[in-house]
Amino acid sequence: MTAGTERIYLNYINGEWTPSSTNQIEASINPANIRDIVGYVQQSNIEDLNVAVEAARRAQAAWRKLSGPKRGEYLFRTADILEQRLDEIAETMTREMGKTLPEAKGEVQRGVNILRYYAGEGMRHIGDVIPSTNSEALMFTTRVPLGVVGVITPWNFPVAIPIWKIAPALIYGNTVIFKPAQETAVTAAKVVECFDQAGVPAGVLNFVAGKGSVIGNAIAEHPHIHAITFTGSNEVGKTIAQKAVARGAKYQLEMGGKNPVIVLEDADLDRAVEATISGGLRSTGQKCTATSRIFVQSSIYEPFKEQLLAKIKQLKIGNGLEEGVWMGPCASQKQLETVLYYIEKGIEEGATLLYGGRRLDGGELGNGFYVEPTVFENVSPNMTIAREEIFGPVLALIKVDTFEEAVALANDTSFGLSASIFTQNIAKMLTFIQEIEAGLVRINEESAGVELQAPFGGMKQSSSHSREQGRAAIEFFTAIKTVFVKG
Ligand code: NAP
Ligand code: MG
Repeated sequence: MTAGTERIYLNYINGEWTPSSTNQIEASINPANIRDIVGYVQQSNIEDLNVAVEAARRAQAAWRKLSGPKRGEYLFRTADILEQRLDEIAETMTREMGKTLPEAKGEVQRGVNILRYYAGEGMRHIGDVIPSTNSEALMFTTRVPLGVVGVITPWNFPVAIPIWKIAPALIYGNTVIFKPAQETAVTAAKVVECFDQAGVPAGVLNFVAGKGSVIGNAIAEHPHIHAITFTGSNEVGKTIAQKAVARGAKYQLEMGGKNPVIVLEDADLDRAVEATISGGLRSTGQKCTATSRIFVQSSIYEPFKEQLLAKIKQLKIGNGLEEGVWMGPCASQKQLETVLYYIEKGIEEGATLLYGGRRLDGGELGNGFYVEPTVFENVSPNMTIAREEIFGPVLALIKVDTFEEAVALANDTSFGLSASIFTQNIAKMLTFIQEIEAGLVRINEESAGVELQAPFGGMKQSSSHSREQGRAAIEFFTAIKTVFVKG
């Protein structure tokens, strides 16, 4: 396509902002108003990727030789620049994928904090001394980088997810090829600009925008990319894993969720309602940790439902840049269509639509991908809306008689990312912690919510069983060497 007046964002390869050899660009549009073009991004091909991989390979030798604290200095500088550009990058994020400005600002701040956390990791221990059976020897472990790491990310957290992959990759001495989601490649380019402004050496971080089916796929297959860290859908994740296994590359997948919340009869109802709304509908339900299935004990089912609906009716939906708007549009037309498809499926399969369910297209909203927050009841466990990830503002209420029934139903899913329970009963909390099949367990708190210094990841089909963030990231981004030294 040919560009309008908006800025064209280039690839970043070997420290230079470079157009793709295809000469093709793609518009990134605002889902709140499709007439607003946020910018143009490159539609790269495999040749562009090959050049980037070569640059990353070359840069590896010097980068891995730098000390951890020295690498950390680059991340500290990147954090400072990102912080200076917080408002601007948050606004770009809102324009590019629709989440409200306060949420976008929170996410950029999160990115800053993650950078600082991993900058500090450059000074922390990377091994252990292990007593050898030979008393004259020294045995210890150390860690070495993997080499070139491919980073493939989704559009729902366009700043935080790339940074929570790139920052640990770099601090432990790897160089990076970063392919963002096309939907949010302008925001991603701005994040890369911060690394560039911080003076990160040429080739250490390379940015190649393009289609997942082209660039993402080629990253998975590239013989000189030693590891791939991916966040996105299960479908794509599985193909990446197969390709990585076939060529012996390390891989890490963070994928979908179908996250349950259990509300027991002794719960603080106000809090449970607030948390269900926040966990289920913030970011228009487009979080992998979003609340999706809500199991409510029958004795409090009606008051819970009433309170929930009363609050949802008050939510202000609109352009996330406007003050007071609580929920923005779906991030893309495709996402809107997916959400509407699942709502239709819910109705067809006999669930009761309690609230919402329609596209919002009156007035200004007609130029965007808006959908009403939607609540179903009489949802049975075998219905599609109880089984498949929707990734939209759709809640399924399910009445249960007992705690045990709730846990059994909550576990009746192929996913296992996040789960929460509302109760005052300590014994039930402890049983829940033991029995629930989820990587993130939350008590009296919403299902969505992550702290950067703690491990993050799911069980079952939500992940490839590794963890990201916090200290856990070292496990993926390094290899252990066990060393035996005899004088
Ligand atoms: P997606 O379609 O899987 O895309 C994720 C990334 O993979 C994008 O960069 C995409 O490129 C790329 N991709 C697409 N096809 C590919 C292929 N054949 N080979 C390699 N890469 C390919 O997912 P999405 O729709 O963007 O994101 C929504 C999903 O992400 C949801 O399922 C959600 O649960 C999951 N998610 C999980 C977490 C978590 O941490 N567990 C966090 C956020 C989101 P394009 O630019 O072409 O799309
Ligand atoms: Mg967009």
